[in-house]
Amino acid sequence: GSNPSRQCVKTTCPYCGVGCGVAATVDEAGNATIAGDPDHPANFGRLCSKGAALAETLDLDGRLLRPWVDGRPASWETALDLVARRFAETIAEHGPDSVAFYVSGQCLTEDYYVANKLMKGFIGSANIDTNSRLCMASTVAGHRRAFGSDTVPGCYTDLEQADLVVLVGSNLAWCHPVLFQRLVAARAARPAMRIVAIDPRRTVTAEEADLHLAIRPNSDAALFNGLLAHLADTGAVDRAFLAAHTEGFDQALAATRGLAPAALADATGLDPAAIARFYALFRETRRVVTVFSQGVNQSTGGTDKVNAILNCHLATGRIGRPGTGPFSVTGQPNAMGGREVGGLANQLAAHMEIENPAHRDVVRRFWNAPRLAERPGLKAVELFQAIEAGRVKAVWIMCTNPADSLPEADRVVAALRACPFVVVSEAMADTDTTRLADVLLPAAAWGEKDGTVTNSERRISRQRAFRRAPGEARPDWWALTRVACRLGFADAFPYRNAAEIFREHAALSEFDNDGSRDFDIGPLVGLSDAAYDAMAPVQWPVRDLGDTGLPDRRLFGDGRFFTPSGKARLIPIAAPQPVPMPERMFVLNTGRVRDHWHTLTRTGLSPRLTAHLAEPFAEIHPDDAHRLGASEAGLLRIKNSRGAILVRALVTDRVQPGSVFVPMHWTDRFASAARVDAVVPADTDPISGQPGSKAAAVRVEAY
Ligand code: SF4
Repeated sequence: GSNPSRQCVKTTCPYCGVGCGVAATVDEAGNATIAGDPDHPANFGRLCSKGAALAETLDLDGRLLRPWVDGRPASWETALDLVARRFAETIAEHGPDSVAFYVSGQCLTEDYYVANKLMKGFIGSANIDTNSRLCMASTVAGHRRAFGSDTVPGCYTDLEQADLVVLVGSNLAWCHPVLFQRLVAARAARPAMRIVAIDPRRTVTAEEADLHLAIRPNSDAALFNGLLAHLADTGAVDRAFLAAHTEGFDQALAATRGLAPAALADATGLDPAAIARFYALFRETRRVVTVFSQGVNQSTGGTDKVNAILNCHLATGRIGRPGTGPFSVTGQPNAMGGREVGGLANQLAAHMEIENPAHRDVVRRFWNAPRLAERPGLKAVELFQAIEAGRVKAVWIMCTNPADSLPEADRVVAALRACPFVVVSEAMADTDTTRLADVLLPAAAWGEKDGTVTNSERRISRQRAFRRAPGEARPDWWALTRVACRLGFADAFPYRNAAEIFREHAALSEFDNDGSRDFDIGPLVGLSDAAYDAMAPVQWPVRDLGDTGLPDRRLFGDGRFFTPSGKARLIPIAAPQPVPMPERMFVLNTGRVRDHWHTLTRTGLSPRLTAHLAEPFAEIHPDDAHRLGASEAGLLRIKNSRGAILVRALVTDRVQPGSVFVPMHWTDRFASAARVDAVVPADTDPISGQPGSKAAAVRVEAY
């Protein structure tokens, strides 16, 4: 700007997977002003309420400013010595699988890379999993089944170029607001465009849609199986595309025949005319994008739901071309970056597979790894159950709050309390998880550290520091590197800055990559420190060092997939039969609100954001409220065998009779007994390991 005392730093919003560019202007006193970055291709200057209020969350009140050991302040040296010693002793006595890391879709790619390398390559266990397991693991599994790789084919402009956008299990208006703004603006400019929302609740998103299908929970696979059958029966499948580029269509189609059209209305709870209208829109529209999010993923049948959707796009060739494709939007800012470095317990690095011996050989040689993990590690829910059972005896939790956010949260708290050694890296001093730590490590937060994130359209953007980290806070990669050195791996962890880590990550992506792996950012290995600092947002695959990531790029336009045959796979899906809810039980749905993020550790600091919805609540249908004798704003007790919570009744016909909706954000620190995950069962999808967080059976009583 014109005022030399003000400095403008371009960075990225730390909240949702849209990954908006942010311009932070800092004055001499260190006060930051936040605006949208007009040049960032995710948002072109737009911000939502959460991004716009970022400056209100920078206060240092409540920050963790120095390491603590056993409840007493300690030096970094003392804390790191203890972490290394306890991990080394545990590994020596009980083997590498007795230790674990639990990380986060909010870690920067560089932190993630170092954590994954240390655990999988040097400690020799794959016990590193991430809260992204709760976010998009079912999509990863579905992509890999269909495409042979975890590839998001499209880009945000596809939503603007489509003539039909189908939103499944996605409250895009609140959870990915800037992408929703882009979608609604595109429809305003092209009124023929249609939006269909498939969601049990009449969300703000559903109200904006041209057609809302208030589907019965967990019947999405039945609906999309029905669509596949309808497309086949009406001659709407693309036979040439199917023959040239796919396999498995006949089996996938045969699996849809289990459900007669009349039974479909029963299974989905939908009006047959509404189903017919949706099917006709899909059949008649060439340019269709299907956006899906947590309503699909957070389910015990999540992976099947994903493939039921992908089947319909593959059967009609609606993939890889402008305005077409299935499109997963991630909850967190760096769920994609985590996938790219292998932050999930069943992945390796650079989108390689831990169960593939050739991939393991590539990574072993590249890292010169002494003991590369040979089999998948424990997925999030299993990991905490292994802590509970005493099989995992030392855990390092980074950038996440599992005492609130994992299902059966009360069990998670008890497990951590009983765990012999718990390390927590955190920016905030007091969370429900920091209270359970033996060692607390102060983490640098957003605005204080450098690195990269990848958003939902595969676009890698820099997060840049614009203020000093307070006290003794340090980036997570730094703490990991210091521990790696103490464990005797100094040669493999020589990093002095984030740029060095990023170049290694880029080099691994192209190492022995003959084109059979989708993730390739190889040219970026040539970035100097200064060029890394100045790096513009770029979509992968990256073509050359000067790549600007524009124009937008999609994959699979050539009909070539990353399976051994090069063909995409349609997967036969057995849609589950509807399970009747036991008498007097309700279905509990969970999700986000517009202005809060996760467990409130950051957005809870902003008065403006807190004003939108100040308290935890349960949406309940007027008929149910009447029957229970619950009054508007009276208290409801929601309970099952796992636990109980107490929240205010929000009486509304947005929810269907027999169901309640409770937001996921509030914790016991902000309202007593409001942790919704206390009543969410730890039941997971058998393929992805993702918990079903949106269909718990609960009792509801007026309190
Ligand atoms: Fe941040 Fe997401 Fe809002 Fe963009 S849409 S400003 S990334 S929270």
